[in-house]
Amino acid sequence: MQAKLKNKKTVAVIGAGISGAACAFELQSLGFEVQVYEKSRGASGRLSTRRTETWSADHGAQYFTARDPLFIKEVNRWIELGLVAQWQPKLGVYKEGSWFESFSKDQRFVGTPEMTAPTKYLAKQLSVQYETTICALEKSSHGWTLSSLEHGRLPEYFDDVVLAIPSPQVETLLKNVTGDVSELSQSASIANKSKMRPCWTMMAYFPHQSSFAFDAGFINQEAIAWIARNSTKPQRLGLDYWTIHASPEWSDAHLELEKDVVSQKLLECMSKLGFDTTDAQVMLHRWRYASGGLEPMIECHYSSNDGIGLCGDWLHGGRVEGAWLSGIKLANLMNQ
Ligand SMILES: Cc1cc2nc3c(=O)[nH]c(=O)nc-3n(C[C@H](O)[C@H](O)[C@H](O)COP(=O)(O)OP(=O)(O)OC[C@H]3O[C@@H](n4cnc5c(N)ncnc54)[C@H](O)[C@@H]3O)c2cc1C
Repeated sequence: MQAKLKNKKTVAVIGAGISGAACAFELQSLGFEVQVYEKSRGASGRLSTRRTETWSADHGAQYFTARDPLFIKEVNRWIELGLVAQWQPKLGVYKEGSWFESFSKDQRFVGTPEMTAPTKYLAKQLSVQYETTICALEKSSHGWTLSSLEHGRLPEYFDDVVLAIPSPQVETLLKNVTGDVSELSQSASIANKSKMRPCWTMMAYFPHQSSFAFDAGFINQEAIAWIARNSTKPQRLGLDYWTIHASPEWSDAHLELEKDVVSQKLLECMSKLGFDTTDAQVMLHRWRYASGGLEPMIECHYSSNDGIGLCGDWLHGGRVEGAWLSGIKLANLMNQ
């Protein structure tokens, strides 16, 4: 896509998480010429699985639910394609020092064999340039041009740009826009109003813990908010790793701690929850922008004058379902 194709709108989508991939896929289906840029080596963003030679663990989204009829239809398609399956954990709730069984009736879905499966499936049908971190945008009479940290100024011109990235990253990128734009402050103020919260994630193997009463649990009073045993999810192989998410409040208060200090504190907490943490093998991940977003939600945003679209979970409820819907809704808005 060296120059703009006649009679067909060209769109750059920044971010190949589920919202960007859904938006790009929908735009492509509607006849747009789409190029996706992603800073990582692969697609899927926070819908992610950490994989090593001996174990794997879902370290971002743990599962997703489907309530909107459009998303239910898509999830059913993914199930038929083998990209997604239902996860039916024995769920516990930890409250006032004791464990209780949860009788939640929610249907929970996970990607198979990894959380990344649905997004990677969409991305395979798109043109995605990986390891390309977009750091500046410029609009001239020929359209938008993008610059990346790795490759400098990119040669392509686009009619529209979609930012499918967390709101703090939108804010940063919009500060690096030059050229002929009139409604930039409106897009920037939407991102500015959104509040995203961090999450410290620990992936841990407890060699002396043979069994536990629950496959996953919501924790209501400790530094930890959620634990899940990865081996209870469909098609997971390898060592029996647990994923442990610290609460947003605790993560916020301890965001800049060293990883080994965070591990120590979370392991202490796991002991209190009834785990034998002796000889635990752990890996830490810090999500600076894990959850949260704009309240009330506006689903997506499109400035047709500037040719800038915004989509992502932070505009649509802060979860996987909302992220996908936001991408689809933006694509259809851009097509009007
Ligand atoms: C710890 C944790 C637990 C969660 N638990 C759940 C859960 O149980 N259920 C649920 O439904 N949701 C959960 N979520 C939320 C869910 O993961 C997100 O709502 C969803 O994945 C967001 O998708 P997205 O496409 O909007 O954003 P992202 O997944 O963040 O995608 C953005 C993409 O843009 C890329 N990018 C960023 N900046 C640039 C740039 N400058 N240039 C190029 N590329 C860029 C990123 O690498 C990323 O791939 C959880 C999230 C976290 C972190």
